[in-house]
Amino acid sequence: MPGARVWKQVLGVEHTVVQDVRTHVVGGEQVVVARVRPAARRRSRCSRCGRRCRGYDRGDGVRRWRALDLGTVRAYLEADAPRVSCPDHGVVVAAVPWARPGARCTTAFEDQVAWLAANAAMSVVAVLMRVAWRTVAAVVTRVVADLAGRSDVLAGLRRVGVDEIAYRKGHRYLTVVVDHDTGRLVWAREGRNADTLRAFFDDLGPRRCAELTHVSADGAQWIHTVVAERAPQAVVCLDPFHVVQWATDALDQVRRGMWNDLRKARKTSQAASMKGSRWALVKNPEDLTCGQRDTLAGIQADNKKLYRAYLLKEQLRMALTTKGTLGRALLAGWLAWARRSRIAPFTQLAKTITRYLPLIGNTLDHGLSNARSEATNTHLRVLTRRAYGYHSPEALIAMAMLTRGGLCPPLPGRVS
Ligand SMILES: [Zn+2]
Repeated sequence: MPGARVWKQVLGVEHTVVQDVRTHVVGGEQVVVARVRPAARRRSRCSRCGRRCRGYDRGDGVRRWRALDLGTVRAYLEADAPRVSCPDHGVVVAAVPWARPGARCTTAFEDQVAWLAANAAMSVVAVLMRVAWRTVAAVVTRVVADLAGRSDVLAGLRRVGVDEIAYRKGHRYLTVVVDHDTGRLVWAREGRNADTLRAFFDDLGPRRCAELTHVSADGAQWIHTVVAERAPQAVVCLDPFHVVQWATDALDQVRRGMWNDLRKARKTSQAASMKGSRWALVKNPEDLTCGQRDTLAGIQADNKKLYRAYLLKEQLRMALTTKGTLGRALLAGWLAWARRSRIAPFTQLAKTITRYLPLIGNTLDHGLSNARSEATNTHLRVLTRRAYGYHSPEALIAMAMLTRGGLCPPLPGRVS
């Protein structure tokens, strides 16, 4: 066909012969359909292992794959989809060079969908690419599996953080592993128990388990048990952002308790003035707006107990960011203060922290940099709150690996 090479470039396909290009009307819409076949060297190959195999039959006949739009028009590739007989994988549909096995879209189309899913709102992706949300989730899952199969995401791990993340409104959990040095999500699986985490160490293998130097976690006993079993040489640390979260929760308890007391005592104006105070109290001081600073000043003047609780939270955060010997000294001072604070949630927190003191001490001594894994953690929590698309844990994990695991393809046709 004249211009076949130009069409090949325009359609973004390789190892493919373009035989014919026509317009058709599909469902009242004009579309472009390119009739193609694999180049001779790519024919009759197993779609699982890529090995050249004996032909089996014609399969279900002609098949269409959605390709990237050509300007304003939808485009499809059309080809035969014969089956081959692989000695290892049995009778399977033959591989095609323009699409991933099982896909109904071309690789270029899928890569663009995945790139957009990582960089734009899901609603934008669905409208722009003219696909359903479910399709986006399926595409992301396939692209991530493909890219993960080509690289070793578990290579070179030294310091990792293990965490559990709730989804489906806290009814289900994922166990995730983040590389502290890069902030990358390297592993995730549904479930949160010792066996889930053992699966990570199984994937890692004994040699690489032995190379881990630090494992941080949130204090859950099952994590510590499995780490002691599979990577006993690793120093176990407590993730500082979890400890700060405990303090924030304690502060929130104090605030809610006081608000209820004021309401019961019918001090309605004082209760109302406290209502907007939550963000002023939980935010890091450097991030406060002018209005929130005023709120804090108001609390300092009128509500001494709540202000002390706020200072307790902030001092603990300071001790954890200071690290080293000074951090340990600050933490010891903090414990003494919290124990005699007579604010129940904080005396309780002092007990918890005392129990975990060896692990927190490790965190302070080893200066475990936490910012990147915390950012990844925050991102994952936001991701799990988006309801659409994630009908399965696999789809959610794929989306997480796409956005935080470094498994996002470049846009098709761009030299990266
Ligand atoms: Zn095979």
